[in-house]
Amino acid sequence: MLLPTHIAGAYCATEAALFLLRRPRSEVCRGPILYGVVAGVVSDLDLVPLFFKLGWKFLGGEAGQHRESILHTLIFAVVLALVPVFLRMRERSAWAVAGCVGLISHLVLDSLTIGWGIMWFYPFSIKFYGINIATRWYGAQWGDKWLSKYIWHPLFIIELAIMSAGFVVARLRTSARNSDCKTLVGDVDYQTMPETVPDRLRLY
Ligand SMILES: [Zn+2]
Repeated sequence: MLLPTHIAGAYCATEAALFLLRRPRSEVCRGPILYGVVAGVVSDLDLVPLFFKLGWKFLGGEAGQHRESILHTLIFAVVLALVPVFLRMRERSAWAVAGCVGLISHLVLDSLTIGWGIMWFYPFSIKFYGINIATRWYGAQWGDKWLSKYIWHPLFIIELAIMSAGFVVARLRTSARNSDCKTLVGDVDYQTMPETVPDRLRLY
């Protein structure tokens, strides 16, 4: 799938995983969520060597070659999960889950429409697996022009739906955080607030 879809998909997946793991509105989740989103796009760094190999043809019919790297395998998901475990940081479990889930979201999305899927069983098998709707139906017909054909095809609604889901989740999270802030403000007893309270804590 395309980069904006990977960002939205990784964001939604990470938010869902952290929701199951802990309080989703906690400020401490910001770091892991960002890590999850980065994990959701970092796999496509393997497009860089493909660009040096093919030039601008890397966006053509051979674009799927970049998925032959280890960045598009479950092994890399394990690596991203282990990195926070070995670093001295707070909330390591949240970071580990976010990295793993973000990367897996990338693999899942790359198995849906464009390309020939992912080496899901690497290193035991280098065979690519996926649903690959667009490539299966139109791959031979679209050829090097797959990108321009794809973004105007009804199948692109799948990408738009995932991007929209990411936008909606982000809005819900922002409004939830704002309501949390209002609740906290409402709990303050200003009548008993001491005179020594710093000005930055005085809201009225
Ligand atoms: Zn990819």
